[in-house]
Amino acid sequence: MSAISRAIRACASRRNLSVQAPAAAAAGAGLAGRRAAAGRDGRDRRGGEEKKDGRRVQWVFLGCPGVGKGTYASRLSQLLDVPHIATGDLVRLALASPGPLADQLTEIVNNGKLVSDEIIINLLSKRLEEGEEKGELGFILDGFPRTIRQAEILEGVTDLDLVINLKLREEALLAKCIGRRTCSQCGGNFNVASIDIEGENGGPRMYMPPLLPPPECESKLISRADDTEEVVKERLRVYHDLSEPVEEFYRARGKLLEFNLPGGIPESWPKLLQALNIEDPDNKRSAAA
Ligand SMILES: [Zn+2]
Repeated sequence: MSAISRAIRACASRRNLSVQAPAAAAAGAGLAGRRAAAGRDGRDRRGGEEKKDGRRVQWVFLGCPGVGKGTYASRLSQLLDVPHIATGDLVRLALASPGPLADQLTEIVNNGKLVSDEIIINLLSKRLEEGEEKGELGFILDGFPRTIRQAEILEGVTDLDLVINLKLREEALLAKCIGRRTCSQCGGNFNVASIDIEGENGGPRMYMPPLLPPPECESKLISRADDTEEVVKERLRVYHDLSEPVEEFYRARGKLLEFNLPGGIPESWPKLLQALNIEDPDNKRSAAA
């Protein structure tokens, strides 16, 4: 629980947020524990004590494709005033900045190969260092680590507080993936799936309304060729095979927070904040946005 208490402590340092530490956190290690941990493994590169005291969160979002982790990570990063760092964006940015790395990446992408762990971790380290120089007080990572090897490398680069594993029932996930649409003109993301499924084990019904496009985008919607039921199922299977050891890696370190999404954003967002002990002063407005 010490990681979670650290995260809560980090949140509490932010003035605008009222954070209530649960009893478990009060019994946790707190700052003293963090100092000890940093000294023990000698890997804490986050600068002096002062900086660590002012630090907010160093979180990772895990979750299978379609679960909406980008959305939740982005909302939380705004709320906590830390950057939302998606490794996909880092790769796109590197591709767009002329130089030897862009050439190397272009070749990889053109050949349909996967960008190596080394390249990703280099981009990420560079991004974290730049952020630290700019005075950023934390981050929320999205899309990384995907494999246990990446998790091990990341552990050598930075000290995470908390890993949030977002989960959604498979039927809902499938429907959401198949319902995904993108506007070919403005790039807007929408979802035509209307999800309404029976509760599990007497639990509440799950209802997720579609996210329909504005009229000007309606005729320009495209779906990804690989968003078919068969392909999505296969993608989820591959994801689970890769991610289970990653989840176990963080579970063993007491850093994994499992969160079952109860439905769409309006229902899930307040519950997620509650699970993270964050009180959002604009709760109603954010949920409706
Ligand atoms: Zn559009």
